[in-house]
Amino acid sequence: MNFIETRGNDGIRKKEVTFSEALLNPSASFGGLYVPKELPQLSESFFEEAKNLNYKELTLKILDMFDLDIDREVLKEAVSLYDKFDDPNDPVPVKKIENDLFVIELYHGPTRAFKDMALQPFGHILSHLAKEKNEKYLILAATSGDTGPATLETFKNKDNILVSCLYPEGGTSDIQKLQMVTNDGKNVKVIGIVGNFDDAQSALKSLLASKAFKEELTKDHIKLSAANSVNFGRIIFQIIYHIKSYIDLLKKGEIDKKEKIYIIVPSGNFGNALGAYYAKKMGTPIEKILIASNINNILTDLITKGEYDLRDRKLLQTTSPAMDILKSSNVERMLFDLFGAERTKELMDSLNNENYYKLTEEELQKVREHFDATFCDDEFAKETIREYAKKGYVMDPHTATSLKAYKELKKEPLKCVACSTAEWTKFAPTMLNALKNDDKKYSDKEALEEISKTLHIEIPQIVKELFEKEIVHKTVVETDKIEEEILNFIQTHA
Ligand SMILES: *Cc1c(COP(=O)(O)O)cnc(C)c1O
Repeated sequence: MNFIETRGNDGIRKKEVTFSEALLNPSASFGGLYVPKELPQLSESFFEEAKNLNYKELTLKILDMFDLDIDREVLKEAVSLYDKFDDPNDPVPVKKIENDLFVIELYHGPTRAFKDMALQPFGHILSHLAKEKNEKYLILAATSGDTGPATLETFKNKDNILVSCLYPEGGTSDIQKLQMVTNDGKNVKVIGIVGNFDDAQSALKSLLASKAFKEELTKDHIKLSAANSVNFGRIIFQIIYHIKSYIDLLKKGEIDKKEKIYIIVPSGNFGNALGAYYAKKMGTPIEKILIASNINNILTDLITKGEYDLRDRKLLQTTSPAMDILKSSNVERMLFDLFGAERTKELMDSLNNENYYKLTEEELQKVREHFDATFCDDEFAKETIREYAKKGYVMDPHTATSLKAYKELKKEPLKCVACSTAEWTKFAPTMLNALKNDDKKYSDKEALEEISKTLHIEIPQIVKELFEKEIVHKTVVETDKIEEEILNFIQTHA
């Protein structure tokens, strides 16, 4: 299957590219993104047969339908990385928490957040392609929390890959920071920067734009790549678990054949939600995808009013930091699918130039055929965490936002599946604040231990170990020293 561009073709780039080309060079004409030319269709018999497949088999079966230009053996190896999850037979378990509400737990991988679902297999495929082409890639990432650990974890000690990650010193949770600075991969460089996440991201951007930096890389025969969430190599793995949710309910007799379900997605960059949209377009009986946001509710405005307005917006800090995003990159792929390349380019140009776009009334109705959206504040999330912990289900602050969508947006008497995107252990101080209804400052370690004791839940070994592991990366620098640090790292590893 080939891939085309969301903003049309500039006459310089190829009009269509293969999957591996889209994966290695993810930026398309006019700053657009690559999307599949068409989506495979799932028949009724597919869902019947799929009831007998485990998650890895299901993933391979769906990847086969996409007819990717990657050896099947390589795809098989990539998918086998789900064996690192808590239960290799069911890496993404679906739990029932209300009569009509289920949670698909996407966080049972090595870094305890849903980023592993896509980054684990993606890392294997990228490294394979680099080796095959005899090229060496430098993967750069700036992180506020979950992307950094998952990126380092997937690329550590992988052939033909160097990976460097910038994090704001003091701007991540203790667990997230430990996951990065204790990473002992030989090809890994983690750099703390003095500043916040925005500073880390701007530093990364100016580095990517620096001529001197690029010349240095060329000299060492190193290509730059980004493993960010707009890479279709990640998106493809985010379609499959939504299909799995549906099959799971079918298998358990919770729904009848062809009965529709709602999917609820706590959203930031819209990658997870886009995966659900593609699953729907492929024929999974999904009534609507309900988008949950925190008070950075730009997606709520888009989906309820048709407006994307950055003009008077400031990013607000919340207790669901992975959803603190205003420029939600993957929305563009939905726009393309609904309105075509010409209109998408117009809208995205307007966003870049005016910080604003507005859909027509008909366009908004088209979006609302597939989506609805709402948001909640930190207080709602904390109350929800407390309420469900009492009933015996522990959810993290990101997952808790989806309960607002469940209560407000479910219009039909259908079953809902909410995506749980992180394990509680990653946000333990917020969890303890929620459980005790206080606003004291706890360290991650004391919060983990207290919650484990009071709720009688185990802290996974992988999390406990972090506090004992050697700190490998001690570098913390001002942003103007980043380039030098990374070049030093490359020269000693090229
Ligand atoms: C990344 C992330 C999200 C947001 O997912 P998108 O695909 O960017 O919308 C939500 N929750 C957690 C815990 C995350 O790490």
